[in-house]
Amino acid sequence: MRKGLKLLLIIAILLINIGEVNAEDDYATNGEYYEELCTSGNGLTEEQKAACEGYRAYLSSQTASMQEQLAQIESQREEIAANIQEYAEKIRDYDAQIETLNSQIASLNNEILVVQAQIEEKQAEIDAKQAEIDSLKGKIEDRMVASQSSMRLNKYIDLLMGAKNLQDLLRRANGIKTITEYDQNTMDEIKVLIDELNAIQAQLESDKAELEVMKQEVVDKQQQVVYLREEARVVKEEYMKQEAALEEQGNKIATDISAINEKMNAISAELGNVVASAGWTRPVNCSIYEGTWHYSSGGVHLGADFSTSIGTPIVAVGNGVILKSSDGCPAGYLGNTCGGSGSTGGGNQVYLLTNINGSLYAVKYLHMLAGTPIAAGTIVNAGDKIGEVGTSGNSSGPHCHVEVFYLGTMSIQEYATSWNGDLSFGAGWSSAALNRLCENGVGAPCRVKPESVFGG
Ligand SMILES: [Zn+2]
Repeated sequence: MRKGLKLLLIIAILLINIGEVNAEDDYATNGEYYEELCTSGNGLTEEQKAACEGYRAYLSSQTASMQEQLAQIESQREEIAANIQEYAEKIRDYDAQIETLNSQIASLNNEILVVQAQIEEKQAEIDAKQAEIDSLKGKIEDRMVASQSSMRLNKYIDLLMGAKNLQDLLRRANGIKTITEYDQNTMDEIKVLIDELNAIQAQLESDKAELEVMKQEVVDKQQQVVYLREEARVVKEEYMKQEAALEEQGNKIATDISAINEKMNAISAELGNVVASAGWTRPVNCSIYEGTWHYSSGGVHLGADFSTSIGTPIVAVGNGVILKSSDGCPAGYLGNTCGGSGSTGGGNQVYLLTNINGSLYAVKYLHMLAGTPIAAGTIVNAGDKIGEVGTSGNSSGPHCHVEVFYLGTMSIQEYATSWNGDLSFGAGWSSAALNRLCENGVGAPCRVKPESVFGG
């Protein structure tokens, strides 16, 4: 009997659990039905009233867990943002140090040129003095040979030839009694010249030593630059990774979705009249500086960066509607997290929903100039201006970051009025987004490589 009761209890618990799971699935998939049923007010059966109570409980539990997740994401975001600021500061610091070193190297190189010119000048002076000495020496030798006719010529030449150097020659010549006053003067002149020569040579040696010190300094500083560049590269790489993580943890969902829904429902009929564009229009009239799916230095990069000057017009790539717009970010810098109600770090942003050749696409434009993003709910034609190039948010210079999402064949009207505010349109973020690339045969929603539709 006790065994039988226990069994019954287990079955009852199982049934209750299955019932709960089934009810959750039911609430999730038939939300519209319950919304209508539970807001209709009176005339509900007891069973329906119980179902509505269950539905409300389900909703509040969903909200609570979502809020918890959002809080978690927010705290992680701050942590990553703090790191990224640190990295950005380090990169700026490295760049400044490298710049200083490079200017020091440039001025050292200039000094080296000056010293080198001095050395050449001194060398020429030395050569001139040496030539003068040689010619005076030659004169004395000639005169001595001529005036020593009484001496046996060969003996005299032997004497001179035996001289080890000029001093020795002078000493030997001094020893010859018949030396004239004229010769003595010439030899004094030679002595003065030799002293001058030695002084210049000493200066030359010290210039050469100075030159060597400066050259070594240049080599040291150049090595320092190489070292700093490598450190900056490593930090930059880490920065890129952190940036991708930041994007992943950032605002994934438009914070103004209920207002957007209202707007889209209000213009629902107009949305139904938007005609498909034939082909793509280039978003910014300039070349792509950094491409998709990775930065040239590594790190995930989910869009193409159109790089050009501040204020360059940004246009709609096709006919459609501005689904979302975010404004109010000043000029940013690497590590800046400003994104308004849109993606963290994206600065001032516009999200266009467009139909091109009969397919539905979303296009995300980032880093616009403050005050230029076109308002959400504006219906646009291909080529219409929707903003201007800026450098707001996480940006190191004026550019427009463009991402393209393929959303299938739903109509603009249908998609816009039921959009859930997901700023990656169901195609994921960061490295996980690389699992949803249209080019790999993944169906909608998937990410389109901008270069494949706009060219390089
Ligand atoms: Zn970019």
